Amino acid sequence: MILPFSLIVSLLIPILWSFSQSIINDPVPSGFRNQNITFLIAHPDDEAMFFGPILTKLSSKDLNNNITIVSISSGDFEGLGSIREQELVRSAEILGVAEAKNRVLVVNDPDLPDSMSVEWDIFKIEKVLAEHYQPTNIIITFDSKGISDHLNHKSLLPAASLWAAADSKLHRSIWTVRSIPTWRKYISYLDAFYLYLNPVKNPYGLRTYTVMSSYSQYTQTRDAMTVGHVSQMKWFRWGWITLSRYMFINDLVQVKGPIPILSMKKALKMMLEAEDKESQKQNKKQNPF
Ligand SMILES: [Zn+2]
Repeated sequence: MILPFSLIVSLLIPILWSFSQSIINDPVPSGFRNQNITFLIAHPDDEAMFFGPILTKLSSKDLNNNITIVSISSGDFEGLGSIREQELVRSAEILGVAEAKNRVLVVNDPDLPDSMSVEWDIFKIEKVLAEHYQPTNIIITFDSKGISDHLNHKSLLPAASLWAAADSKLHRSIWTVRSIPTWRKYISYLDAFYLYLNPVKNPYGLRTYTVMSSYSQYTQTRDAMTVGHVSQMKWFRWGWITLSRYMFINDLVQVKGPIPILSMKKALKMMLEAEDKESQKQNKKQNPF
């Protein structure tokens, strides 16, 4: 008897799903239980669109972690900042963050706007983190490519590195979610097969951690967008929710501290620019005409 096509597909998907999980899921690394973990993001919805698999995993009750989400901007590009702040709390609840209302912070500083063309001041971000997030042991953020090449995303790793370096006695570890080439972005969990054949290599020689969601964890991530971030649910988001591998898989690498060399160069460049600006201001004050 020939089984109807839809029946074959509905049987195949769960089999393929659990097989994919079994070939790439790493055990939880040591030091990821009973920890204070901060997810450092740029905009409300980053946590759901890019960090869902790792967030749902690390917020599971058996790991007993305290999860905090820090969003540097309120995502006010279209003037929806205050709505999006509330949506971030709802999304965090759906993703399993305990006491989400108290564990979500939106910095929302006018000098750190939601903009694709503004490079954020990493020293300012570091200062905010230093003032409010002392207990953090683990920081999870974007890598230097920022997944989508967004300038705001790319500012976060150097800022996190500065923060970790400022108090090296605390031995904070920084992990980044890896950016992947465009052709792999929209193959959903089938990217597991690519990862299986090409295991993650950490350029810093430190640990890696690959996690693929179960179906129920995937639905949490999906709902974080569809129920949590309602204002962002434009038609094309459905494509992301269904096909983006970041909705199913996160592969993380631990970053060697204190500051990656490129970021150090960037940090020095920004420091010089800031000093220049300051001296120009002083000169203007002294010579108003
Ligand atoms: Zn973003």
